[in-house]
Amino acid sequence: ANLKMSKWETINLRKKFVGPSCTLFYKSDPLKIEKALGQYMYDEEGQEYLDCINNVCHVGHCHPAVVEAGSKQMYKLNTNSRFLHDNLVVLAQRLVATMPPELCMVYFVNSGSEANDLALRLARHHTKGSEIIALDRAYHGHVVSLIDVSTYKLNHITDGMHTKPDFVHIAECPDTYRGKYRDTEHPMEEMADLYASSVDDIIAKIQADKKQVCCYIAESMQSCGGQIIYPKDYLKKVFRSVRSAGGVCIADEVQVGFGRVGTHMWSFDAQGSVPDIVTVGKPMGNGHPIAAVFTTREVAASFAACGIEYFNTYGGNPVSCAIGMAVLDVIKSDKLMENALKVGDFLSLKFNELKSKHQLIGNIRGVGMFWGLDLVKDRATRQPATQEAAYIVNRAKEEHILLSRDGPDDNVIKFKPPMCFSLANAETLVKHLDLLMTEIAEGKAAPGDENQVPSNGNSFVHDEPVHKKLKTNGVSNTELNLWTEPSIN
Ligand code: PMP
Repeated sequence: ANLKMSKWETINLRKKFVGPSCTLFYKSDPLKIEKALGQYMYDEEGQEYLDCINNVCHVGHCHPAVVEAGSKQMYKLNTNSRFLHDNLVVLAQRLVATMPPELCMVYFVNSGSEANDLALRLARHHTKGSEIIALDRAYHGHVVSLIDVSTYKLNHITDGMHTKPDFVHIAECPDTYRGKYRDTEHPMEEMADLYASSVDDIIAKIQADKKQVCCYIAESMQSCGGQIIYPKDYLKKVFRSVRSAGGVCIADEVQVGFGRVGTHMWSFDAQGSVPDIVTVGKPMGNGHPIAAVFTTREVAASFAACGIEYFNTYGGNPVSCAIGMAVLDVIKSDKLMENALKVGDFLSLKFNELKSKHQLIGNIRGVGMFWGLDLVKDRATRQPATQEAAYIVNRAKEEHILLSRDGPDDNVIKFKPPMCFSLANAETLVKHLDLLMTEIAEGKAAPGDENQVPSNGNSFVHDEPVHKKLKTNGVSNTELNLWTEPSIN
């Protein structure tokens, strides 16, 4: 039955049946989103929100070409990869063509977590090493093997039942603004060496303990850790050290891949580095669960020699692969990498203008469709402006702009929108950030306005939906005319 529930009823059913660890955006007044198109989302009242954070619906929410590719294949066949199918091999071929030539073998899986878990398995069987090096603040996935290497989660577990295993070693996060080595104390040219030395120290300790390095795993740009762009040559230097210790290097491109940087399809490539294993996910299926692991012929051979087959029920099924191909097509046909460059350059300019106007902005970092604004209470001390960041996220929602915040202090405003985000959208965003930062400067921000912070359990206080007024961001009508609404719900 197609019952139309009120938001209040949806909240109560969720409270009743869904595990309380599954949290919502905007806890005190969550959004109920019923449909989306391109860079816009619509709530149950038809009100429009500009999506600045959904990097999964990479080529635009419900892009008709992607929806059509998936539904056509669903009508025809969906089965596992033990049967021959052209979709799987053609997608493999097309993706491999975007990778450095060494990374010519692929495994299809269903999520970023599965991809990273498989990457760790590949690394173990290839190197026969046990010791894993990961970055501080990292998040690589929700399964046991990845919580082990994700201090973003691990550091917040309070019952003591999941602690960092001894075989996991945490290297300094190469954040030159807020990390161990800061731009105030060290010239930028030294940063790559300084942060790479943190990995070198770990390798030396592993070897002194007579153990073998297995791998280094890191995102090519750190997203959950606070939108961190590494110092130039950092990855190259670390990869060299890890390899000379017999380990392999895993680049997690789950968030930052598929052209988000604009200049390159892959962020590691933009930094002139070549990993041994690459994991991709989120944007790959534009919201459909498909992910993959790329590696060298040698690593793949070691894995094959471990004695067991690799089988993944849904990985590489014809529907997922049809969708994966459509995403690649749209990135090209809609010129989304070019758009990322154009919008990224514009934002760089505008964010810097905002920074010269608002003391609240301590640091701006980003490229293409990936930006972070590190908010501070004081530029000299760099004390994180956590409550101000919460205020901005919540007020932006009232203005129908969806933003989020992250980093260890939850003070970094994140921008990672669908790649069809336009220049007009960027203008809207900047105008509103200016407005909200002015409100903060004028003391209008209510202190402790923290309704985005997860509280204990599902503590909703709810009556009726708050937004009564229909609102648009003024640019969407022309944008929406570009696409007709898909007929499949
Ligand atoms: N790696 C990174 C960098 C991620 O951000 C995430 C998800 N946020 C994952 C891996 C895990 O992906 P999934 O949720 O698809 O398992």
